[in-house]
Amino acid sequence: MYSSYAGLEKKIMTKQTDPAVLALIGNTPMVKVTRFDTGLCELFLKLESQNPGGSIKDRIGRSMIETAEREGRLQAGGTVIEATAGNTGLGLALVARAKGYRVVLVVPDKMSTEKILHLKAMGAEVHITRSDVGKGHPEYYQDYAARLAKEIPGSYFADQFNNTTNPLAHETTTGPEIWAQTDHRIDAIVVGVGSGGTLTGLTRYFNKVQPALEFVLADPKGSILTEYVETGNINEVSGSWAVEGIGEDFIPGIADLSSVKHAYTIDDAESFGTARELLRAEGILAGSSTGTLLAAALRYCRAQTTPKRVVTFVCDTGTRYLSKVYNDNWMTDQGLLKRKNYNDLRDIIS
Ligand code: PMP
Repeated sequence: MYSSYAGLEKKIMTKQTDPAVLALIGNTPMVKVTRFDTGLCELFLKLESQNPGGSIKDRIGRSMIETAEREGRLQAGGTVIEATAGNTGLGLALVARAKGYRVVLVVPDKMSTEKILHLKAMGAEVHITRSDVGKGHPEYYQDYAARLAKEIPGSYFADQFNNTTNPLAHETTTGPEIWAQTDHRIDAIVVGVGSGGTLTGLTRYFNKVQPALEFVLADPKGSILTEYVETGNINEVSGSWAVEGIGEDFIPGIADLSSVKHAYTIDDAESFGTARELLRAEGILAGSSTGTLLAAALRYCRAQTTPKRVVTFVCDTGTRYLSKVYNDNWMTDQGLLKRKNYNDLRDIIS
């Protein structure tokens, strides 16, 4: 039985054409929020969870690999290396494994088990490292990945935090899609910053077509970005947060935060709670960073005194957080859910 599976895998992997699913990256749908109080605003969600790899990062996975191939920095038999919260790794693995490259990823240990299992199932090699150390520490995920890139011959370090192809992917795809889907009527975009690729790319695009557009930062409590936006200070000391994929302890090389007009700090309880509410109210299963973005978007919308059209993102699918955001035991253990709600769920089950 096992050997026939192994044979099947080999047959699949020797096929040379790219899988058709890669053409499904991008052009994601947008839906209006209808069940939350959005004040005078109309609020729209761009469902990046509908990308084939399940997140907004498929866009940069494809563009970083194709650019590296074009520039001769990634060649047949090569290895793609990246430091990732998981989603960039999934986007890279989707494209790179299809093209026959080895994929080596360094992922901090706070990231969900579902992401790690998904990465391994795609044939990526995953190095888990510490979440509680900062830049300059040998076990910091980005320094660790940079070191592997030096050690492994024929490797290409995607380096989303410094790779200009990252914002370019959003400038050329995400931005034009939002502009068309809102019929050129849009006043604000609420974004989170991990690498800063989404914000920077959208800033460049909307500076050309709609310079009055306001960018709103949704930042987890503990990240240094809100303080940087509000005061220009770069705090050397960051806190910790459970939301995955956004918030930073440094300013990424590619991140342009100059267009951010408002920043909201959202704590884990509000982020996780809002993601859970989104599922119950609108039927959309989203990850923890979407909870942060939606919470900030709702605060921004409710503070407006004139009608506005606002867009934010469902950055990734909630299926990769079933063991966390959507697990009442975990939520209760983390102090993110009151025991009362846990009992509610037991009532539902029994
Ligand atoms: N949400 C999630 C779930 C992510 O994984 C990421 C990227 N790490 C982002 C948002 C932030 O996107 P960006 O890197 O473009 O700032």
